[in-house]
Amino acid sequence: MKITFYGTRGSIPVCDPNFIKYGGNTSSTLLEFDDGNFLICDAGTGIRKLGKDLLNRKDSLPIRQLVIAFTHFHWDHIQGFPFFRPAYDPDFRIVIYSMGVDRRKQDIPSLFKTQMQSSYFPVPLGKMGAKFSFAYMLDEELIWKGKQVRVIKHQHPGDAYSFRFDLENGKSFVFCTDIEHGETIDPRVVELAQNADVLVHDAQYTEEELKVRRGWGHSSWEQAVEVAQMANVKNLYLTHHDPDHNDDFLADMEAKCQARFPSSQMARDGMSIIL
Ligand SMILES: [Zn+2]
Ligand SMILES: [Zn+2]
Repeated sequence: MKITFYGTRGSIPVCDPNFIKYGGNTSSTLLEFDDGNFLICDAGTGIRKLGKDLLNRKDSLPIRQLVIAFTHFHWDHIQGFPFFRPAYDPDFRIVIYSMGVDRRKQDIPSLFKTQMQSSYFPVPLGKMGAKFSFAYMLDEELIWKGKQVRVIKHQHPGDAYSFRFDLENGKSFVFCTDIEHGETIDPRVVELAQNADVLVHDAQYTEEELKVRRGWGHSSWEQAVEVAQMANVKNLYLTHHDPDHNDDFLADMEAKCQARFPSSQMARDGMSIIL
C-alpha cells in the first residue's frame, strides 16, 4: 500500500513562501492498495493535484473507479472537490463513500449538490461529467474490497470519523484527524490505533494554544504523541497543521515531538509512505 499526502494543512489553504516545506493545501490523502484499488480520504484543496496526477496515469490505471471517503464535511475537507479533474471525465466513476455509524443522518447527495449550486460554483454536480454514486457503509467494522476496515466516530463539532485499515500483508494504517480529545485522551481512539504501523493524527495546536481553543475540535501535538505511546504505534505522522504555523514553527514542533517519540514526523504535502 502506498499513502500519499496531498494536503496536510488544517482549516484554510495557505499560499506563502514561509509555508513551502510542509505545504499549504488542506486535507486530502491518496491510498493506493496493492490490488489496484484507490481510496481518497477527504477532498480539501490537495485533491486538485491528486486528481491531475491520477489523470496523468489514466491509461495505466487498472480501475477507473475513484472512491472518496470523508472524515467529515467541514470546508477544509471538501473545498477542493469542485477542482477534482477526474470528476469532469466521463471515463471515471466517482463514489462518494460514507463510512461509519450514524452517517445516513446526513443527506450526502444534497450536501454536494448544494456545494456545486450556482450561487457558489458555475458547474452543477450533475454537469461535471463523471458518473457519480453515493454509498453508505454504516457498520463500525466492515470489509471494503476485501480489506478489513474499522471506523469510529470521534469528538469534533458536527462529528468526524477515524479509519483503520488492516492490510493483507499484516500492516495497519490509522487516519485520525479533526479530533478533540477533551480532558483525557479518548480511549476508543487508543484502541483503534493499537499496535498500528502508521498513525496519522491531528496536531493542529501546541498544548498552550489548545488551552484557548477548546471546542474548536482539534488536538495538540502532545496529545498525538500520547495516543501513539498509549497505543504502541510504530510510526506517528502529525497532520492538520495550523494555518498560522509556518515552516520554522513546524520544524521546531517536529523536533520537540521527535524528542518524545523518535519515530514521528510531520506529514507534509507530497510525502509518500509505503506499507
Ligand atoms: Zn479540518
Ligand atoms: Zn473539521
